Amino acid sequence: MAAETDLETTLLGPVLADRACGDCTACCTVLTVDTPDFRKPAGTPCTWLTVQGCSIHAARPHICRTWFCAWRRMADLPDDARPDRSGLLVSLNFVREPRNVFEAVSLNVRLLPGSEAIGNGMAKTVLDRLCNQLIPVWFSDGSRKMLMHPDKEVAALVVSGDPAPAHLADEVAAWRERYEVFSGGG
Ligand code: SF4
Ligand code: SF4
Repeated sequence: MAAETDLETTLLGPVLADRACGDCTACCTVLTVDTPDFRKPAGTPCTWLTVQGCSIHAARPHICRTWFCAWRRMADLPDDARPDRSGLLVSLNFVREPRNVFEAVSLNVRLLPGSEAIGNGMAKTVLDRLCNQLIPVWFSDGSRKMLMHPDKEVAALVVSGDPAPAHLADEVAAWRERYEVFSGGG
């Protein structure tokens, strides 16, 4: 877990001093936690979560002290994209047995229940600001999980190893270089 936390700092940056969770407790309900000292399933409020927030704040598990969503780390995300205000929870995801190269380490943008982020444009704003680097971005709305970055054509070329057309050659080469560790593994 320490290694994953370090990777979050490397890929997303350190936790920002001017961003606070405030009244947000989205991660305490939405996320799966699977650590040696604390486990909970996705989409279920933590047993210690109350309307006032975490009831064991001073003694909360290690993961709760050290994990922060992308909004706490990425200044590029707008201030009003805090998960409880925007209805979007952005986090870095790690999949130990990925089905493809874009699943192993990626950003996941989750649309929270009741969110108006698609209609009010916040989802587009957040995706625009995330889809500009060599980190895959997925969007999940509760029923489907879709790869948003890279786009379908680039993703297919990276996975297949087929020659890329000239206008995509640099982008495909950059993704392949990043995922060289997976190439040949399918
Ligand atoms: S989702 Fe982000 S802002 Fe909300 S409580 Fe968790 S870390 Fe804090
Ligand atoms: S222990 Fe507290 S901070 Fe951790 S998930 Fe539960 S309510 Fe949230």
